Amino acid sequence: MFKHETQVIKFLLQWYSVNARNLPWRKKNLNLPDPYFVFVSEYMLQQTTVNTVKNKFNDFILKWPSLNKLAQTSEPNILKFWSGLGYYSRARNLLKSAKIIHKNFKNNIPQTYDELIQLPGIGDYTAKAILGIGFNQSVMPLDANIERILVRLYAIDKPINKVKNKLKDLGKKFISDKYSSNLIQSFMDYGSEICLPRNPKCNICGINKFCQSYKKNLQQKIPLKLKKKTIKTIKYTRAYVIVNEKNEILVRSRPNKGMLASMLEVPNDVWVKNKKLLTTDHDIQKIKTKLQSKGSFEYSFSHFDLETEIFYGNVKKAKLSKSNWIKKSSYSSSRMPTVMKKIVDIAI
Ligand code: SF4
Repeated sequence: MFKHETQVIKFLLQWYSVNARNLPWRKKNLNLPDPYFVFVSEYMLQQTTVNTVKNKFNDFILKWPSLNKLAQTSEPNILKFWSGLGYYSRARNLLKSAKIIHKNFKNNIPQTYDELIQLPGIGDYTAKAILGIGFNQSVMPLDANIERILVRLYAIDKPINKVKNKLKDLGKKFISDKYSSNLIQSFMDYGSEICLPRNPKCNICGINKFCQSYKKNLQQKIPLKLKKKTIKTIKYTRAYVIVNEKNEILVRSRPNKGMLASMLEVPNDVWVKNKKLLTTDHDIQKIKTKLQSKGSFEYSFSHFDLETEIFYGNVKKAKLSKSNWIKKSSYSSSRMPTVMKKIVDIAI
């Protein structure tokens, strides 16, 4: 059994004091970050890379510098801001949580696991990340970087998903009483700079003498990959970009539940798995205008790919006076999800 946890902790803290990444939700000089910054960044980082989040985070804080300010905003506003990050349920949950914290916790991010875990969109990992990084509490949230370092240190030759409980136990060996925030972040940074997913930099790694994978020359094989069994489903739709004489695009809001809830869309047919089952959208059936094909486009969601045939048409505004329109010049900054913006890009 591996016996050098204390040395690993010591090394990582020392390494971090020199090599910490400069991320906008962190404070300089290794002081504790603002818990509100950690709270926002953890929502953003769920399923999105650090590099993508970095720029968006700065804009977010400029717009909503405090939890109190965030809690006052509306769902359409945050959805519009979120465009480009994807997984819009995170934005909705972040706002719901901010409103709960505003109402029940006087704008202070809760400092207990039991309170955090009840907030929308916060699971075990995010609760621990907020407690550990934002409040220096003694916990170990296991993100992909930390899990990878652990399976390599202990040469665990099973896919990570199969050893989650074991990793939780091993993670406990690395919980710090005094320096939890820095230790957690040091693990994360070490995984993204040295113990990389592919080609880890073992030759310059300061803990290679404690690493069982390195000793056994297994560092390229561990973590073991899960064999992929599933092929992504394909769904089909047709989308209609209808423009009036004032250069406005016909739009509507999506239902307030389900995928891309409450976001703007151009009319499109119900998404189906069998192309033959496509039926023309009811709004388009009413328009009776000549439609021009603009080709097809494929967009990849996490669980399926969406194949869309795009059509373009013109119509007089008076014919659809009760419908919603947005200016052609402003759709790119509207609360349309990326897939819809790309459809419009292609059509016009
Ligand atoms: S020796 Fe290599 S595999 Fe082991 S912890 Fe260091 S970088 Fe990671």
